[in-house]
Amino acid sequence: MTRNRGKSRNMPPLGAFDHLKVSPRPLCWWCLERPATTGEHKYKRSDLARMMGDDTLVWFGDRGMRELRGQGALKRDRYGVVKFQKSMCAVCNNTRSQPFDRAYDKFSDYLTSTRVRILPGIDFEEIYGASWQTDTLDLARYYAKHFGCRMVRSGMPVPKSLRTFLDGADDMPDAHMALVTTDSVHRVAGKGLTLSADFVTVNPERTKFRSYVLAAYVGAVGVRYQWWAEGQKPDEPGSQFFHFPMPVLNCFKDEKSLFAGVTRKPSWFARFSQWLSRPAYRSDRLS
Ligand SMILES: [Zn+2]
Repeated sequence: MTRNRGKSRNMPPLGAFDHLKVSPRPLCWWCLERPATTGEHKYKRSDLARMMGDDTLVWFGDRGMRELRGQGALKRDRYGVVKFQKSMCAVCNNTRSQPFDRAYDKFSDYLTSTRVRILPGIDFEEIYGASWQTDTLDLARYYAKHFGCRMVRSGMPVPKSLRTFLDGADDMPDAHMALVTTDSVHRVAGKGLTLSADFVTVNPERTKFRSYVLAAYVGAVGVRYQWWAEGQKPDEPGSQFFHFPMPVLNCFKDEKSLFAGVTRKPSWFARFSQWLSRPAYRSDRLS
């Protein structure tokens, strides 16, 4: 899908894109109507509570290491590691996105109880049953909302297609979402939760964003999102994972190759399972 590997070869210095960043607005970034009074959870509290049990959760996050002691610490979120800054209204953050949260809870339960990483893909009919079509779209919208909050935090303008997708559209013409697993994340995260960095490319004059890549994981399995500015989208960007009952799990060696969209070969076990179940796993392969 991403054929513009060369563009990312020379990494610009930190702060090189600061002039392109937009400052947070007082209005909710989704509805653009109501005041932004709430912060979305970076990780769902239920995920964190499950990982935590009665223990201390040691957090490797945006600004070094933090320790959260006891479930009360998750609620208080003194260090701002659980929630994003306030960028959404309560209606969008709670009521409107409830179905997305429910779909994500099931997905995340499944990922923590199944060795998905060695499989050729993920079987959404197994997770959601007969309602897989609606639920898989809602799962993708959970990630869309999460990525939207991250864009706001990083000063990246939120693409209109992401908002209309959250409003109920069933596709994003200038963006692509794929299921992914990344080896370098697997080595450090185990069953933990990780956000990857937000990657951007800009034009040579550094006056416009050209594309974004963002990923979020449960353990080492998650979703990769890519957006392209007008005229930048490749001819064959791949299909959206949320249109298939059994989308392919794209494997990456590290986050650099995830950014570039350069997949590694699936394991022999995954290839064998795919061969056995062919044509059950429909391709939304990145490259
Ligand atoms: Zn709103």
